[in-house]
Amino acid sequence: MDFSGDSSLHPGEFLRLLKNRVAEMGADLRENTPVAEIVSQNGKITRIVTPNETFEPALVVLAAGAWSPQVGRGLGLNLPIQPARGYSLTMPAIKNMPRSALLLGERKVAITPMGNKLRFTGRLEIGEMSTAPNPRWVANIERAVREYIHLEDELSIEETWAGLRPTTPDGMPIIGFSRHHENLILATGHAMLGLSLGPGTGQVVTELANGVKPAFDLHPFSPERF
Ligand SMILES: Cc1cc2nc3c(=O)[nH]c(=O)nc-3n(C[C@H](O)[C@H](O)[C@H](O)COP(=O)(O)OP(=O)(O)OC[C@H]3O[C@@H](n4cnc5c(N)ncnc54)[C@H](O)[C@@H]3O)c2cc1C
Repeated sequence: MDFSGDSSLHPGEFLRLLKNRVAEMGADLRENTPVAEIVSQNGKITRIVTPNETFEPALVVLAAGAWSPQVGRGLGLNLPIQPARGYSLTMPAIKNMPRSALLLGERKVAITPMGNKLRFTGRLEIGEMSTAPNPRWVANIERAVREYIHLEDELSIEETWAGLRPTTPDGMPIIGFSRHHENLILATGHAMLGLSLGPGTGQVVTELANGVKPAFDLHPFSPERF
C-alpha cells in the first residue's frame, strides 16, 4: 500500500495554534463552559444554558464528538453515536527515535514522533463513556511497540490518557442542518479520523452557515439517513 500522502502532527499543538488563530480572527472563545441545556421553540433553538451564562444563538453548531447525543438530548435528535475509547502514551524522545510516523498494522498501534516527544496510540473499546485508561491496555500498547522497535527497558512515560472517538453505525460523519431545527448544524461522528477530516468539515459548516453551496456533496453525511 502507498502511504506517501500520509503525514503526522502534534494534535495538542495544532489545537493551541488553531485557538490562537480563531481568537485573532475575532472569535469569542469560552473555555470550560459546559452546555447544560439547549432550549428550542417552534423548530428553532432559542437558548443555550451554561452554568454561568445563557446565550440566545442565531446559529448553533453541535460538534461535541462522543458527547453530542448527551449535549443534544431533549432536542429529539436521532444521533446513533457510540464512544470508541482509544489510548495515548507520550514520552520524551527515545535514543532510537523513529524518523517518521509508523502504523503497526497487525497490532493496530500508531507510533508518532512529535519533535522532542514520542507518542504511541491504539486500542478501540466501544460503548463506555469513561476516559479512564485501563492499565492493562496501556501495557499492551507498549508491548506491541516493543515487538517492532528497540526501546529502553524502562520508558519514562509522561502522560497517559484515553479519549473517546465518536463512531456512527455506517462509519460516516454526520454533517448538515438538523431537520427539526432551522438554526442547528450537526458536525459530529468523525470516529478515528476527526483530526484529518476536521478542516474539511469546518469548511462545509462555514459554507452551510453562510448559505453557500457546500464544496462537496453532503448527501452521504446527511443527519436524516438514520
Ligand atoms: C487515541 C486516539 C487516537 C486518534 N488518532 C487519530 C489520528 O491519527 N487521526 C485522526 O484524524 N483522528 C484521530 N483520532 C480521532 C480524533 O481524535 C476524533 O475523531 C476527533 O477528536 C473528533 O473531534 P470532535 O471535535 O468531533 O470531538 P472531540 O475532539 O471529542 O471534541 C468534543 C468536545 O466537546 C466537548 N464537550 C463535551 N460535552 C460538552 C458540553 N456539555 N458542553 C460543551 N462542550 C462539551 C468536549 O469537552 C470536547 O472538547 C484519534 C482519537 C483517539 C482517542
